[in-house]
Amino acid sequence: MKAVSKTDLYRKLPSLDELVHNQELASLVSQEGQSAVNDSARAVLARIREEITAGRLDAEGVDLALSGIISAIERELRQSLAYSLRTVINATGVILHTNLGRAPLPGSAFQHIHEIAGNYSNLEFEIDKGARGRRDIHVDRLFRRLLSEELAAASPIHDVSTIVVNNNAAAVLLVLNTLAEGGEVIVSRGELVEIGGSFRIPEVMTKSNAILREVGTTNRTRLADYESAITDKTRLLLRVHRSNFQITGFTEQPRVEELVALARRRNIPLLEDLGSGALFDLRSVGVNDEPGVLESLRSGVDVVTYSGDKLLGGPQAGILSGRRDLITRMRANSLFRALRVDKLTYAALEATLLAYVKHDHDAIPILRMMRLSKEDIGKRAKVIVEKIRRPDLSVNIMDGESVIGGGAAPSAVLPTTLVAVTSKTLTADELAARLRASNPPIIARVEDAQVLLDLRTVFAEQDVMVTMALQQI
Ligand SMILES: *Cc1c(COP(=O)(O)O)cnc(C)c1O
Repeated sequence: MKAVSKTDLYRKLPSLDELVHNQELASLVSQEGQSAVNDSARAVLARIREEITAGRLDAEGVDLALSGIISAIERELRQSLAYSLRTVINATGVILHTNLGRAPLPGSAFQHIHEIAGNYSNLEFEIDKGARGRRDIHVDRLFRRLLSEELAAASPIHDVSTIVVNNNAAAVLLVLNTLAEGGEVIVSRGELVEIGGSFRIPEVMTKSNAILREVGTTNRTRLADYESAITDKTRLLLRVHRSNFQITGFTEQPRVEELVALARRRNIPLLEDLGSGALFDLRSVGVNDEPGVLESLRSGVDVVTYSGDKLLGGPQAGILSGRRDLITRMRANSLFRALRVDKLTYAALEATLLAYVKHDHDAIPILRMMRLSKEDIGKRAKVIVEKIRRPDLSVNIMDGESVIGGGAAPSAVLPTTLVAVTSKTLTADELAARLRASNPPIIARVEDAQVLLDLRTVFAEQDVMVTMALQQI
């Protein structure tokens, strides 16, 4: 082979201008625009030039690269214009997976978003009066219907008002700042939690300008501990749902009713950070230890905070429900303005709450998933297993457990049926990586050297994609 100088090799390359006006790129230009095509062509040319500089391409190599340059530009363009945020199939069986976006929205929620997002709306406008309105009324009316009307007039708090901020961390910040700035908040040492993604009670307390007054010990806190910590600086009693851990053994914690009684006696509001905040009675799916929003308010807690995208099954939001006079003070805090949510969140939340009003629990994906029986899931698993004909894969059905996740009911598990996959040639981690490389990516669990797929969190219409991915590994 005749040696060709690098200069000669560079000379073989077309100019950018020549390249981007190639007829073969014309349809790409009309689809995606000249400027995006130019960027991709520039990147591809630069890569070839680098290869030449590094001495990795000879004359033949350059010819080969040039023969494939149009498809290389097309690939580069597709990659550079692809969304970073994309759909995945959640086969982990963790219903509220914070890394996978927590609750998928009900169909009615994204239809409502679609309609509101692309148009003007009455977000802050009273149509009958032709005057400025408030954005929080759209969901407050539904919360009132779901909460106030359910709370008997005899319950200590029945006139419940609700506002919404960006997430539950923001909700806690807003209450602490509104009700306890410059004063003290009493919390049990057993409840000074950190929740995934660095939400830490002591740090939120500092940011809100309230002073944390810890009482009790990690495992035992008595009512008397709260009582003796109350001074004229005390502004709030705080109870926090432990969410992601349990304390077992020699433990003690006052019942919420006892804390309510103490709060009343000393005229100090009681705040409960519920975390998940179920509006649905989870006892019907065998989860007994997750306090609901109604239950907490019915016991007499003055304000509760909870997430919109955990057990409620709606969009990311922090919801504050409670005594009207206290909620009114929070609405007046300038932090409320800084933490406010946009019309898309209101649209999604309104649609989700309407499903609750109609008792249409199957419309809410996470509730539907929670209510699936092990047998329902087993039938779907069987269909998949029977379709896989691969001598190198062993695909079996086994019993297992799904978890709720998202800091809800940490000890609760739901019995499920799993598809267990092992390969003769790949390790379980390699197999899981192959599943993640399929389109859409499939996220599975790896346990005891097997890949485990839990169809509870897979939408039934995605079963066929799971089958195909297993077939094509
Ligand atoms: C999840 C959780 C939070 C944080 O809620 P985000 O909506 O993620 O901000 C706060 N407190 C508790 C008890 C939680 O479980």
